[in-house]
This record gives sequence, C-alpha cells and structure tokens, in this order.
Amino acid sequence: MLHTSYIEISKSAYSKNIEFLKSDIGPNTEISVVVKGNAYGHGIENIVPIAEENGIRHFSTFSADEALRVHQASKEESQVMIMGMLDNNDLEEIIRKGISFYVFEFDRLEAALAIAKKTGIKAKIHVEVETGFHRTGFDWDELEWLVKVLKENAEHLELQGLCTHYAGAESISNYVRVRKQIKLYKKIKSWFEKKGLEFEKYHTACSAATLLYPETKMDLVRLGIASYGFWPTQETYMYRFQSLPADNKNPLKRLISWKSSIMNTKKVKMGEFIGYGSSYMAPRDMTVALVPIGYGHGYSRMLSNQGKLLIGGKIVSVVGTVTMNSIAADITDLEGIQKGDEVVIIGKQGENEITIASFGESTQQVNYELLTRLPQDIPRKVVE
Ligand SMILES: *Cc1c(COP(=O)(O)O)cnc(C)c1O
Repeated sequence: MLHTSYIEISKSAYSKNIEFLKSDIGPNTEISVVVKGNAYGHGIENIVPIAEENGIRHFSTFSADEALRVHQASKEESQVMIMGMLDNNDLEEIIRKGISFYVFEFDRLEAALAIAKKTGIKAKIHVEVETGFHRTGFDWDELEWLVKVLKENAEHLELQGLCTHYAGAESISNYVRVRKQIKLYKKIKSWFEKKGLEFEKYHTACSAATLLYPETKMDLVRLGIASYGFWPTQETYMYRFQSLPADNKNPLKRLISWKSSIMNTKKVKMGEFIGYGSSYMAPRDMTVALVPIGYGHGYSRMLSNQGKLLIGGKIVSVVGTVTMNSIAADITDLEGIQKGDEVVIIGKQGENEITIASFGESTQQVNYELLTRLPQDIPRKVVE
C-alpha cells in the first residue's frame, strides 16, 4: 500500500559527514556514532549498516532496547555502549551479549558485579563522573568507595571508559561552565591514576565539544547530530567557519529528505475560507493542492499559514490550518500541477531546498527535536 509520505536517507551524504569528521578529529580518536532516539529519527536499522560501511565500529545508545537493536543490526561485531537507562533485570542479557554500559551509581555496579560473578563473564563498564551536568555521574565524595569496589572486583570488570558529559558545549553562554567541567574531569582522571586505576578509553565529547573544544576529544568522541549532517547550533558553525577547509565550507550534509505527493487539487473562490475556521480567506481565486501529511505525522500545527513546501520545483505556502492528516498548499501560480506530483517537505526539488533548520526555525524546534519526532511509522528508504 502507498504510504502518505516517506523519508529518504542519503548514504553518500553520510559518507561525506564521516569523512569530514574523521579528518577534523584526527587519527588518534575513535568515533562512536550516537544512535539514541532511533538514530535521531533516521532508524537504527538504517544507520548501523551504513556507518559500518564507513568504518565505524562503535555505537552509543541511551537505553538497553536500543542497544539490542544495534547489536542485531550490526554485521561487524561493533562495540555497543549504553549511556543511560538499563534496568537491573536486563543486565544479564546485556553482559552476555558483550554490550558495555555506563555505571553512575552503586546500585547498578553491584547488580552488574553479581551477574559477572554468577556468569563468569566480565562486565564492560564506563564509569561516569559528575563534573557539572548534574544529571548522572558519581560525585567526588563517592569516588574513594568506588575505587575500593573497582579494585576488589577487578577480575570481574573490564574498565572500558571514564566519561562525563558537558552541559551545553554548543553555546558560548555556557563557556565558563564547560571549562570548569573540563578542568574537573582532568583532575578526576589524574586522581584515579594516582590511585592506580586506569581506564581503556577516556571520553567526554559530544558533537559540539568535538568541534569547539579540541582538548575534549581524547580517545573516543560520541558523535550524534554532526554525523547526521547538522551543526549542533548555528553558533557552532559560525565559530568553526573560518577554520574549515577553503574548498569545503559546508562539510556537513543532511541525510534526510521527507517527501509526499499531491492527494488532490481544488479551486477556491476569492473570499472563501480554506480549511477549519477562518484563519485563511482566499485573497483571490486560487488553486490549492492537498498534501496528506499533518500534525499526526509530525508536521507541526504551528506551521498553519506558515509552512513552506516544494511543488513543481517551486516554494509554495501552506494555507489554512494544519490538520491531523493533511495540509493545503497554494499552487495558484504554478502550471501543470496534478494529483500524484511529488511534494517535498524537507529536502531538495529542482533548484530549491527546504532544510530542517529553516523548518525548525518556523516551529522553534531545534534539529534534534524535529528529527526525533518524525514518526517511526513513516517508511524510511536508504538511497545513494
Ligand atoms: C546525546 C549524547 C551525545 C551526542 O550528542 P550530539 O550533540 O548529538 O553529538 C553524547 N554523549 C551523551 C552522553 C549523549 O547523551
């Protein structure tokens, strides 16, 4: 059956992003591709194989269910790391599958140790420390006890990482806070070393930190948004613009295009209202095209009388309210448009393009939110 819209994911754009990021990061730092939020809306099962084709062998998820999906989709025995939610009841399966996970409290650590002892399989852990994000992470006053537990149970643990997360590296307004975090992390790192504990990998950086604070790169960077072709913020791009290679001033490429087609066209007389209520009165005799996407598909109601679409290679406006399943577009000035013609909601058509950023600006959603809110049931197609 024909779906009302579909999302294309460009493999070649992905390769370009990874190529740029690798060259920007340098040869001594590994990339972990962050695939939480269903790979930022792109689909875990789509992204994992493409990433592996581009040499990626490390993936980060928020939760255990996502990690299992990565594990399933992986063809290369890549490493998987859970950064957030992992119920103690799921620990055994995760440990048996060799998936690594963050430990930021004693409860999870003790549960993991119990399973490691029972199964004889080492638990692969990343110790998360509090440096100022104040969400998860061991506090200073817990570290002495932590070291004792880690040392006593050394044979049951693989200390894969020592990590932390920055509280907003994408904005200069957080500069002082991020600097403090970097300093504190370094202090904690050397404190552990003095206690005789070393970790395989030291990792702290998300996309923004990687792009703006080179010293945060260390052994591994956890890249989400940049790998999908977006600067974390406009500010990040501005900051980096001068230092980008002259022949590649726009190195991050969007993977996603969102497309639909015209359901029907209709003539509307001047003075008639279009759609529910009276938010739009036709200022002239008009032709509108109905497009079968609405807020139920993630096209925000805030785009009523505001949104832009591409039809026939031209930018057209949404007229009237966005309803649950459809929107009307003004095609009065276009010729030869008919039912079934392609409609681009995000992406290129002819010379024109609607980027997620401009879409986001009119709904005040950032790229991250818009991407992850694209409904999972819109089919994704991987294209070259
Ligand atoms: C989401 C997340 C990242 C990736 O962030 P981006 O800004 O998308 O690169 C890195 N680390 C942690 C802990 C995260 O939760």
